[in-house]
Amino acid sequence: MRIDVVTIFPDYLAALDLSLVGKARRAGLLDLRVHDLRDWTTDRHRTVDDTPFGGGAGMVMRPDVWGRALDDLLPEPAADTGAGTGGAHVVVPTPSGDVFTQRHAEELATEDQLVVACGRYEGIDARVAEHYRAAGHRVSELSIGDYVLNGGEVAAMVMVEAVGRLLPGVVGNPHSLVEESHGAAGLLEYPVYTKPPAWDGREVPEVLLSGHHARIDRWRRDRALERTAARRPDMVAALDPDVLDAHDREV
Ligand code: SAM
Repeated sequence: MRIDVVTIFPDYLAALDLSLVGKARRAGLLDLRVHDLRDWTTDRHRTVDDTPFGGGAGMVMRPDVWGRALDDLLPEPAADTGAGTGGAHVVVPTPSGDVFTQRHAEELATEDQLVVACGRYEGIDARVAEHYRAAGHRVSELSIGDYVLNGGEVAAMVMVEAVGRLLPGVVGNPHSLVEESHGAAGLLEYPVYTKPPAWDGREVPEVLLSGHHARIDRWRRDRALERTAARRPDMVAALDPDVLDAHDREV
């Protein structure tokens, strides 16, 4: 997969050279390119923003600069076969977007190319998203949560990491992706433990030391259900009742 991130602070994205995403880049599993939006400016001061029409505080990012950048980076729009079916997808991080979830990450991981447009100031002129949608591109305006950051770079890193770890070969043991929080089961993950078996007077639950796989699986599912009910009742309410067995209902 190719991901282009466009920002006025390319250095912000340096952390994407580290850890699993960095390794995936070096292994050729992820072609991540970080671009300086100012490379598409045409004036001496490399201006990317201007005052808002209608007045008010702050500055707004200019559509002409973004237009030149996106025109250069995006292929011609293909006939739309629906989201998550390959092709290019423009991602615009914004606190006013849909809240980014694991479902978005899964959908974006099936695309051939993502172009992530990092806003700053009061954001990007609204005509940019409209224009690329009207031109037949998939455009998603996504928020990483109900709070306001100074810029889209941290949000871009969140999305690149969430999408990147779903690409084949990026996470060494693909089984680690199966039982995770927000996975197909629709639950949070059960609590996890490692050595030593006793620490500071606290024991690891005995069942986990038993070697009895069926009991361990049952214990983990029960704890996952309990934890999800306590912390995220909205997720429990959204569970398909057909996936719950009689024991689940007691928990
Ligand atoms: N004036 C905008 C508003 O109230 O919706 C906030 C602009 S914010 C200061 C500047 C940029 O940070 C946004 O254009 C976006 O790229 C990014 N940003 C801020 N909060 C975000 C969030 N929760 N999720 C994703 N991106 C965010």
